[in-house]
Amino acid sequence: MKILKYPNPILKKTSAPILAVEGDDISTIEQMVKIMYLSRGVGLAAPQIGVNRRLIVVDIGDKNILRLINPVTIKTEGKEEMDEGCLSVPDIYVRVKRAKSIIIKALNENGRSIKIEATGLLARAILHEIDHLNGKLIIDHLNPIRRLRVLRESGYFKKQNLRFS
Ligand code: ZN
Repeated sequence: MKILKYPNPILKKTSAPILAVEGDDISTIEQMVKIMYLSRGVGLAAPQIGVNRRLIVVDIGDKNILRLINPVTIKTEGKEEMDEGCLSVPDIYVRVKRAKSIIIKALNENGRSIKIEATGLLARAILHEIDHLNGKLIIDHLNPIRRLRVLRESGYFKKQNLRFS
C-alpha cells in the first residue's frame, strides 16, 4: 500500500464520518499504523492511503499510538508557528500557524468516546491529520501566490509534466 501524493484528488476530498465502527475501519487503522512507522511519519490520515473515512493515527515518538475515529476539536488555546512537512507533499516544508493546545473528542478503536488534551507537537500532529480529513494540505495554509511559488520552486510542475507527457 502506497501513500498518495499531491495532487491526487482523493487528498482534496472531505472524508465521511463513521457512523458505526466496522471491521474494515479497524484493519484500515492497523495498516495506517504500519505505514506511519515504515515512512517514519508522526501521523497518518486515512485519505493518504486512499480511504476517505475519518480515521487518523498519531505517534510523536513516545510509542503512545493514538488511533482516532471522527476526531473533532472542541477547544483550542494559543497560537504557535512551526515548519511542517507531509508524507503526501514530499520535499516541501511550510510554516503553519496552529493552536498551541487543544482538546479533542473522538472514538477510540473500540468505539468508545474519548477526550484528549494535547499541547505542542502532539497538538500540531493531531491538527495536521484532522486537516487531511477536510481535504486540507500544508500548502493550503499558504496564500495562492505563495503556494504556486513554493510548488514551482520544489519542481512539482516539472514532475507532473514528466508523468503526464
Ligand atoms: Zn500530512
